[in-house]
This record gives sequence, C-alpha cells and structure tokens, in this order.
Amino acid sequence: MSQFQRFLEALHEKYQPLAEGTLASYIPELTKADPGWFGISVVTVDGQTYQVGTVDQTFTIQSISKVFAYGMGLEDHGREALLHKVGVEPTGDPFNSLIRLDEDSKRPDNPMINAGAIATTSLIKGADPTERLNRLMAMFRRYIGHDVFIDISTFMSERSTGHRNRAIAHLMLNFGMLNGAIEAALDLYFQQCSLLVDCHDLALMAATLANRGINPATGEQAVNPDYVRDILSVMYTCGMYNFAGEWAYRVGIPAKSGVSGGILAVVPNQAGIAVFSPLLDKNGNSIRGLRVFEALSQKYGFHLFDLSMGKCSLLTALNE
Ligand code: GLU
Repeated sequence: MSQFQRFLEALHEKYQPLAEGTLASYIPELTKADPGWFGISVVTVDGQTYQVGTVDQTFTIQSISKVFAYGMGLEDHGREALLHKVGVEPTGDPFNSLIRLDEDSKRPDNPMINAGAIATTSLIKGADPTERLNRLMAMFRRYIGHDVFIDISTFMSERSTGHRNRAIAHLMLNFGMLNGAIEAALDLYFQQCSLLVDCHDLALMAATLANRGINPATGEQAVNPDYVRDILSVMYTCGMYNFAGEWAYRVGIPAKSGVSGGILAVVPNQAGIAVFSPLLDKNGNSIRGLRVFEALSQKYGFHLFDLSMGKCSLLTALNE
C-alpha cells in the first residue's frame, strides 16, 4: 500500500469518531443521512485514485453544483457578459441572504450564493426547460464520466419548501436582475441541487478542473479550459460559505461545500479531492471534511502560497 493511501486511512481512522455537528434538516431527505458516513477520495490529474470509507454512497450535490453551473454560464455567455449579470465579490453574508439585493446592487454578488446561483442557472441556454435541463445534465455527465440522475423526492422537497429562494428570485426580478421565467429558473436550480453523486464522483469532478477541464478518467473535455481560471477564482474566494476567508488562510486551495456534507477541492495541476461526511458546523461545512483538508494541505503543502514545498508536491510524492 502506498504511503499516501496509508495517510488517508490514518486520517479516516482519526476523524471517524468525531461525531460533532448536525445534519442539515431543512428538508426531510437530508435528515435521512447516516451521521457515521465518512469518505475521502482523491483522483490525480494522471488518473490515479486513492480512497477510503464511504466513497460510493450517493447523496445530493446541493450547493457544489453552483461551481459547474457557473462554468456553463461562462461558456454560454463569455466572461464579460456574465460578469455584467453576476459579480465575483465575496459577501460574508449567509449563502441564502437577501440583504444585499436592493435597488443599488446591479447584480447578485457572486455565483456561489443562492442569488448568484439562481441568476446563473437562469442564463443557461436552451429552447425550453427540457433542453436547458438536458444541457445541464450533459455537462455534469462530462465531469462525472457516467450517467447522472436527479433525486426526485429531494427536488420535490426543495421546490415545495424553497420559499426563501423564491423570494430571492422575485426580488431579483423586481430589480431587473432576472428575466421573467422565474419558476422555470428555480426548477432548474432545484434540479441541479438534487443531482445524485458519490464522493468519488466529486473527486473526479475536482480532478477535471485541476486538469484544465479534461476528465482524467475519460479524456473528455468537460469545460472550455479558458474558463477554468474563472471557476477556480470564485471557488477560492466564495466557495466555503462564511468560512471562505479562513479556509483560504488555513487550507489555501479552491473548494466548494454543500449542505449534504460534501466538500470538493482542487489542487491545480495535481489532483481533485473530495470528502463526504454529513455532520455540519454552524457555517454549513462538513466538520470531518474541514479536519481532513487541513491535515492534507499541511502534509502535502497544498496551500497555493506555501512556497516552501515546491510545485508538484503530491504528484512527486506519489510517483517517487
Ligand atoms: N438547495 C439548497 C438551497 O438552495 C442548497 C443549499 C446548500 O448546499 O448550500 O437552499
């Protein structure tokens, strides 16, 4: 067994007993998660996989989908046109906040908060809702490398309880930030949040971004490489809810988390890493996930501004 695999297994063993935090409970589907689920998955840009624990249990992707929908928005509209509609400023407000949406704000602050994500998804091109959904699913399939499915009961729950997201959409309509098709945009947003993935899928999606948009398992170009830099930039500044600043400080790589307990992170030119563990802290981030990423970043010098470790620390260690 490689040293790296041993390190992952040791981390798993160390943090499995950590039972702090709570499951997301705003819809019944998320409360059905087992608090003991805990998986770590790493996929390198040259296609090696290292993993331990709950790596093939499916769960809904939730907010992590925002990263990939943003990539599609960039492809559909280009950087400048999209920037005109959705900003790239971190807010420090909760992900579902309404407070910055007012007459003066020309656009939602960034695509990782709900307002920006709903606006981004509303811009996905297609003749009708079916074509827009099919394009979105085809995009996820390119990153994941196999067929993808939506969890219908999560989608129905998101849709029937999503009053706050509906309020955000109506406010944006009022301020001219969205066109009129609000219900269709919200449906597509709830559908993308309800996409089923497992921990390995998330690591492969992150590895695809680490590999300039080319899926290391299938060789398929999942996203135009010109936009990977933009995607990683908003992940770096806005991806971890109200912990984004501290994450950038402590872990130092672009990442995104979601309320179902996934965190994916990109080590540029090296690997994609995902942790799945549904017990969350008050910011909505997986508690075991935070610990694992801090330890990995420390050990392998992932922090983008850690200049002491040389450039390709993980790949060098793996291929020694
Ligand atoms: N579907 C959730 C919402 O829009 C996403 C929550 C999350 O993962 O942050 O409220």
